[in-house]
Amino acid sequence: MSRFFSNKFNSLEAYTPGEQPQDKSYIKLNTNESPFPPSPAVIEAVSGEVGRLQLYSDPECKLLVNKFAEVYGIKPEQVVMTNGSDEALYFSFLAFSDAERPIVFPDITYGFYPVFAKLIGIPFEEIPLSDDLSVRVEDYVGIGKNIVLANPNAPTGKCLSLADIERIVASNPDNVVIIDEAYVDFGGESAVSLIEKYNNLIVTGTFSKSRSLAGARLGFAISNKEIVKDLNTVRFSTNPYNINRMTMAAGYAALSENSYYMDNCRTIIENREYTAEALRRLGFEVVPSSANFLFVKSREVSGERLYRDLKAMGILVRHFSGERIREYNRITVGTREQMDALIYAVKLILKRI
Ligand code: PMP
Repeated sequence: MSRFFSNKFNSLEAYTPGEQPQDKSYIKLNTNESPFPPSPAVIEAVSGEVGRLQLYSDPECKLLVNKFAEVYGIKPEQVVMTNGSDEALYFSFLAFSDAERPIVFPDITYGFYPVFAKLIGIPFEEIPLSDDLSVRVEDYVGIGKNIVLANPNAPTGKCLSLADIERIVASNPDNVVIIDEAYVDFGGESAVSLIEKYNNLIVTGTFSKSRSLAGARLGFAISNKEIVKDLNTVRFSTNPYNINRMTMAAGYAALSENSYYMDNCRTIIENREYTAEALRRLGFEVVPSSANFLFVKSREVSGERLYRDLKAMGILVRHFSGERIREYNRITVGTREQMDALIYAVKLILKRI
């Protein structure tokens, strides 16, 4: 730390993203990317923009927003496009929480929430998940604080029903409720259908997982017109050109070929259930997942050892050191071949013990 770094960041611990190793090629099951490449139209659309990079991108993202609204069945003024959904979350924290308006979220959830809260200086409270790693809906009903919930949750993969989400949103009318739907396309029930009914709801989402665009950085927040206007005030005060030309073209093309991506999601769901079953047969505890990853724990090998041994065998998974979850690993669901390689490696590791 330099002597110039602001004191307000004394206790800030930056978010640690999953490894993106450049040294050798791994079977990468650690950051919940799609194993499938973008569709051909995306590649063509991105190439088409390269020759126009001397020009700024459209700060209104008009073409993309209109296409998005059509696919999601909302009005264009109900969405703001962001640089990954991390930015949608950041803007939502920044716009609606402050020292007087704290935010709550589960103790086991997306690691960026406490980082954003500390960065911006928002008091926050972490509400423990139940012993089976579920969000206890009662803990949030009428809590009277801003709320952010990943649904499905990460790293557990567990999902709340739409009825439960509605209870939380309806019982906190004077607070914003942010539902982070990064993984919703793999089996969750989206809360976008509640946007017209509740004016305190924000749904964030991403093209990183189900639409194979993690490297392009494209996310969104869906809400009512007033909230979207506030988010745009923050966006225009931060970086009006937050979506670059190539990403905008990629997003538009991906929405035009939505069925390719939704078919891929179905394949990933099948591979998830196949892998869950195989790991259960090997004695693993596998948390029921509605996402493109599995959260698993072995009775025979520690979470850390499994992570290390898999890495030595060229397979990367995500291990977290948090006290309640250090015996688990989060495994991204990939192709059937990748899953077979994982299962084979796990069998070898268990045999060695
Ligand atoms: N929410 C959750 C729960 C996530 O796991 C992630 C991925 N790390 C994100 C949001 C952000 O993803 P992105 O910025 O790529 O849209």
